Amino acid sequence: MRTPAGFECNYFYGDYYRGRSVEECRLLKASGQNWTPDLCKTCPAAEIARANACESLQLRATVARPLSAAFMRRVQITAYCEKSGRDVKEPQIGCGECHPIPPIFEVKNDL
Ligand code: SF4
Repeated sequence: MRTPAGFECNYFYGDYYRGRSVEECRLLKASGQNWTPDLCKTCPAAEIARANACESLQLRATVARPLSAAFMRRVQITAYCEKSGRDVKEPQIGCGECHPIPPIFEVKNDL
């Protein structure tokens, strides 16, 4: 569904049927975090899901007030691969278990 920030996110749920106005983030809800519409504006979850559709990738969201964002509330995402059983540092790319990065993209230190 389309978030209040104007882009599609699989984790957003809105029920506007017959005058209802129920909105929630199911990713934050699963972590027991409170969602407010302003969080969608800077949330990286939808972009990660668009970049990496791996079914083994599990995202976990927390709301924090990072110093770099002048203490504004931001969604921070951590990722875990259920198949390889390890944390995924770059969720847009994945852990490399199922979809190894082609050798053409490897950086060589021969120089
Ligand atoms: S906070 Fe992030 S994950 Fe939740 S609905 Fe908004 S964009 Fe989606």
